[in-house]
Amino acid sequence: MSHSSPSHGPQEPLFGLDELPRAPATGPAPTTSAFRDSAQARRLLAIREIHAEPAAAVSPRGREILARFPGARLIEVDSHWRIPALHGNEGSADRWMRIKRETLVLGVKKTLTTRPNGRSADWIAPGPSNGCALSCVYCYVPRRKGFANPITLFTNIDRIIAHLGRHVAAQGPKPEPNQCDPEAWVYDIGENGDCSVDALVCDNTADLVRAFRDWPTAKASFATKFVNPDLLDLDPRGRTRVRFSVMPAGDSRLLDLRTSPVDRRIAAAADFLDAGYEVHFNLSPVVVRPGWQEAWAELLRHMDDVLPQRVKRQALAEVIMLTHNADLHDVNLRWHPRGEDLLWRPAEQETKRSQNGALNLRYRADIKRGALSELRDLLARHAPWLGVRYAF
Ligand code: SF4
Repeated sequence: MSHSSPSHGPQEPLFGLDELPRAPATGPAPTTSAFRDSAQARRLLAIREIHAEPAAAVSPRGREILARFPGARLIEVDSHWRIPALHGNEGSADRWMRIKRETLVLGVKKTLTTRPNGRSADWIAPGPSNGCALSCVYCYVPRRKGFANPITLFTNIDRIIAHLGRHVAAQGPKPEPNQCDPEAWVYDIGENGDCSVDALVCDNTADLVRAFRDWPTAKASFATKFVNPDLLDLDPRGRTRVRFSVMPAGDSRLLDLRTSPVDRRIAAAADFLDAGYEVHFNLSPVVVRPGWQEAWAELLRHMDDVLPQRVKRQALAEVIMLTHNADLHDVNLRWHPRGEDLLWRPAEQETKRSQNGALNLRYRADIKRGALSELRDLLARHAPWLGVRYAF
């Protein structure tokens, strides 16, 4: 079924378009220099349909988002978790790409929980979104909603920030350094999406960055594969860590669909540092395939060549080896089998049944150990300034 004729819910919104601040669908384009209003941003996100919980649609953030996309059709949904016409793995990849480009979901995040982590961050914050408009073929983010999962934005960002403020206050100062940070409690704010892409739609990311700059014992952190220059205006005052994910360009072209090219992510690092962010890198995911060592060596040499000293002085890396999933493999085979040549290598991977029944694959322990050791050698040789904060 076409995305424009959903099988669920009423065709007309129940909460009444008249109550919402919709600008006319035609009229002069907004005059602003924000990147999110540029033609480039509007090619990535050309929103035609917004599925919204009623409470989300009438909230201040929801109204702002609806006003940004005046031509989009508004469809009421009971729950952002259950939209059968969007979610699930059936349908063609062409449709998924269109869903990711043309569809938004607005919801209210009901359960606000900050979970301990201890690897990349001390804490996983309740995220401002779930789902992503980019299409990395190994992405685990859509695991609960199916692989076409478009961006769901949570409109109760004020409650999320109030929850985080209480959590930060309850921790007090960090008692001792750890691998996450020597001084600050680190909160990952982007576990289930890409905050740079969310910022094309609304100010959830901006609100979080601004909140963290007033919390001297805490730091926000998010990984991204998208360069959004609008984030340069947020004045984070060192309280937000951006982790640009990088991998060899050839792998990325095959696996990181709809993302910013890797060399652009690297080139943006100095701008983000100068704008007040801490800038780290995620070497992620590391895909073991014939010739991977030379490809990573080339990437690290490129980083060493182009990154200025001030970026190198403060940069650290996370190394994350690829994990894959049998369901995702089956889905990818139907639309992007070349990517699976790199990702699906059962002779080198072992399986593990997760709690929700999914069959996950990761490199065999001996292969993973060997690859991590080789990657550390490559780092020592080509980018000795890039310490590894943690490898997984
Ligand atoms: S950018 Fe991150 S969240 Fe978005 S598709 Fe890629 S891996 Fe998933």
